[in-house]
Amino acid sequence: MVNKNDKLILDIIDNGITGEGIAKVDGYTLFVDGAIKGEKIEALVLKTNKTYGYAKIINIINQSDLREEPVCPNFKKCGGCNLQHMSYEAQLRFKEEKVKKTLAKFTINNAKFETIIGMGIPYNYRNKAQYPCQNGKIGFYSERTHSIIENDICYIQDEDADRLAKRAFELLMSNGNTCYDETSNSGNIRHIMTRVGKNSGELMLVTVTYQKEINGIKDIVETLKREFPNLKSIIQNINNKPTNIILGKECITLFGNDFIVDRLGDLDFKISPLSFYQVNPVQTEVLYNTAIDMAEIDKNDVIFDLYCGIGTISLFLAESCKKVIGVEIVPDAIEDAKENAKINNIDNVDFYCGAAEEVVPKLYEAGTTADIVFVDPPRKGCDQVLLDTIIKMEPKKVVYVSCNVATLGRDLKYLIDNGFEVKAVQPVDQFPQTAHCECICALKRR
Ligand code: SAH
Repeated sequence: MVNKNDKLILDIIDNGITGEGIAKVDGYTLFVDGAIKGEKIEALVLKTNKTYGYAKIINIINQSDLREEPVCPNFKKCGGCNLQHMSYEAQLRFKEEKVKKTLAKFTINNAKFETIIGMGIPYNYRNKAQYPCQNGKIGFYSERTHSIIENDICYIQDEDADRLAKRAFELLMSNGNTCYDETSNSGNIRHIMTRVGKNSGELMLVTVTYQKEINGIKDIVETLKREFPNLKSIIQNINNKPTNIILGKECITLFGNDFIVDRLGDLDFKISPLSFYQVNPVQTEVLYNTAIDMAEIDKNDVIFDLYCGIGTISLFLAESCKKVIGVEIVPDAIEDAKENAKINNIDNVDFYCGAAEEVVPKLYEAGTTADIVFVDPPRKGCDQVLLDTIIKMEPKKVVYVSCNVATLGRDLKYLIDNGFEVKAVQPVDQFPQTAHCECICALKRR
């Protein structure tokens, strides 16, 4: 029997889905943040449920060779980088194993599992940050809470964008603005979001507010323009709903463009505040080029790029095939995608706005089919109606780009049961220091 406040000696037998250590005491499971498989630790039990509980490390008795001192002083409190206590090599092995173990649950064992592609310098890679603001503070949520840890610097963010966010917040506060309070639904500043074109250097600042007015906004804009010469866009986003969702629907441009431009490979991309854009551009190029290689494209192929965002994969594909059709649900992203085709002089791409599970069945009924289908869905994976349509359409190949291996496994299983086989599985590390894992799967029709 394990009870709260027990001090126990634990053997860590595995690492779970977010990197947490796992130990068993007479069949009872304990999760221990920051513990590594193979370690023996002294732990304090924090909380117990019926079949599992949580404990924290008091002392490491036998330390894993894979352990490394985290660079970030907030590592223990912040919920962002769950793997910073592991060497980068160990993080990569952890992710590979996670992909293999999860796919094995769906009996996907006979595909070729490629070695994960890691990042050269696995820090300061992010091009987008969203900082919650609360009680005069800006920072990140501490793990599993809504209270804020202030951080001077974040080691996975872009340094200029990080400075911009903190400086903007400082000016907002010194001009008499208050932070939004989610319990009383009052106050104003909710989040500061930044985007940076890692290749172009262009910066975007988005201030998410509860109200329409921002005190002193003219002066704040002038100061920021002066201090950050690369700042190309300042946007106010109004979110007047009591919700956990960060961004509202309404955007007001306070300065400059309503987009920034970034370059990926040989192409330029316009990115609006509400559009999705991959957060690690260095690895995104690797991801796209690898996915395209795995597709073994023929010049005459018609390719669907489903969940296309601002059309990045579509435009990467365009030069090697006959035609690309991109489908995406967010209207601003599709506007960006069309614009991106234009600015790159690409004319063999069509974009449709709508849910893939609605647009693709309509295209299919109208006689439009694909030789190869790319899908890159959000974490919840593909809708079954979409998978059914792909199965009916009988493309030669499907290339599945996934940010959630659990839904990937589920969807692959469905495709395998309906005439496809998985040829290769290629993880790519898009999110160093965190437990998130990106993975490409190439399927062929049997
Ligand atoms: N392929 C793109 C975007 C991938 S992220 C890239 O690499 O940048 C997933 C995208 O799917 C997001 O842009 C999201 O807005 C979109 N999306 C979410 N649900 C969708 C649906 N049901 N149909 C089409 N697109 C959807």
